[in-house]
Amino acid sequence: MEPRHSNRTTAERDIDSVLHPYTNLIRHKEVGPLVITHGQGVRVFDEAGKDYIEGLAGLWCTSLGWGEERLVQAASAQMRKLPFYHLFSHKTHDPAVALCDRLLGMAPVPMSKVFLAGSGSEANDTAIKLIHYRANALGKPAKKKIIAREKAYHGVTVATAALTGLPFNHRGFDLPFSGVLRAGCPHHYRFAQPGESEEAFSTRLAAELDALIVAEGPDTVAAFFAEPVMGAGGVIVPPAGYFPKIQAVLDKYDVLLVVDEVICGFGRTGRMFGTETFGIRPDMMTLAKGLSSGYAPISALMVNERVYGPVAEESGRIGVFGHGYTYGGHPVSAAVAVETLNIYAERDILAHIAKVGPVLQDGLAAFRDHPLVGEKRGIGLIGALELVADKAAKTPFDPKLAAGPLVVAKAQNHGVILRAMGDSVAFSPPLVISEAEIAELLRRFGKALDEAHGDLT
Ligand code: PLP
Repeated sequence: MEPRHSNRTTAERDIDSVLHPYTNLIRHKEVGPLVITHGQGVRVFDEAGKDYIEGLAGLWCTSLGWGEERLVQAASAQMRKLPFYHLFSHKTHDPAVALCDRLLGMAPVPMSKVFLAGSGSEANDTAIKLIHYRANALGKPAKKKIIAREKAYHGVTVATAALTGLPFNHRGFDLPFSGVLRAGCPHHYRFAQPGESEEAFSTRLAAELDALIVAEGPDTVAAFFAEPVMGAGGVIVPPAGYFPKIQAVLDKYDVLLVVDEVICGFGRTGRMFGTETFGIRPDMMTLAKGLSSGYAPISALMVNERVYGPVAEESGRIGVFGHGYTYGGHPVSAAVAVETLNIYAERDILAHIAKVGPVLQDGLAAFRDHPLVGEKRGIGLIGALELVADKAAKTPFDPKLAAGPLVVAKAQNHGVILRAMGDSVAFSPPLVISEAEIAELLRRFGKALDEAHGDLT
């Protein structure tokens, strides 16, 4: 049978057939899609052959850039040998074992076991289920509430979207549901009181967390979720002293800490894990994105013995640990992930980030003087510029102006793909980016910012 509309363009067929994630579905019919055909290094190309520097590594994931032949080889070799097998009911295969083994060896704090899944959302969703399972195992069925922060991003399944603290992930979806508690966002520029130091702000947030747990009842609060640097919330780097102070409160009330390393893991913040950059001691860690450089869908949840022990016992009592995804630990994805980790080690990706990270951060800092820029944030190879209507008063733009999306649209015209989180523009290029490519990215972005200044003032 002929494919439908075979004589129409990809863009036209897209409009007819694709329900797009994170898109205004009505506007999509008017603006149409940007059709990306291929990529090489830090660049992707559209149908007309125009090149774009991918300033967000796709969705914060393509750490090794496009065209990494070794990952293609790893995938095709595994595809030939064993394209599918699973880990259910006592089965296993070498790529999954090699990956879990490797991750436990890399873990920044002692971890006991690794659960493999297909996406960041699935890994975090599994963490939520383990929190419930463990509470039941320990005979503390009331201790199940989970704290997540304003502006957090932990995924979009029903449960993880409830933890996510961004309005557009809740509006229209009847979320969040009860049992999710909200802690303050550690964004000093926006939420510190006048004259409050970073350290004092962290102390206050920890005290507020303490008060929240006490008000709810420590016997009802099970876990706290946190990204080391909050990504989709606007690249929010924690203020000085934040995590040690939060950790002390969690320890006091026997509350588990789940660190979502989906963006920060594998070098993004300058150390292998954000956990190391900020001195955190998680009980569970979730990983995805950079785990396979985005070349294959895969995620991992690492759990320590404090979590694994009771979960294992409960499965023995029930007769089965009744959770698992068909594609969890998919052999092709696992083989690609192992090869990605080999490449990070062989090429000393951390040394490269130590060299080029400051070039990105200094380049972004140079925009501080721009009339549209209120704050520059960042660490390692992740950063953001927050746009404001009035720098001195930190006044945001009228949301109707959509200043962030405007700058990002103009940047796309100038050949750099970025993302707007409200009026913060995020930068998270492939980790392999060179100094010259960072300079080119920032030059293209600068043109867009100047043009937007003309439009917005
Ligand atoms: N956690 C964080 C910190 C993320 O940034 C994301 C996605 O951007 C997720 C979880 C969800 O991952 P996925 O989109 O693979 O479900």
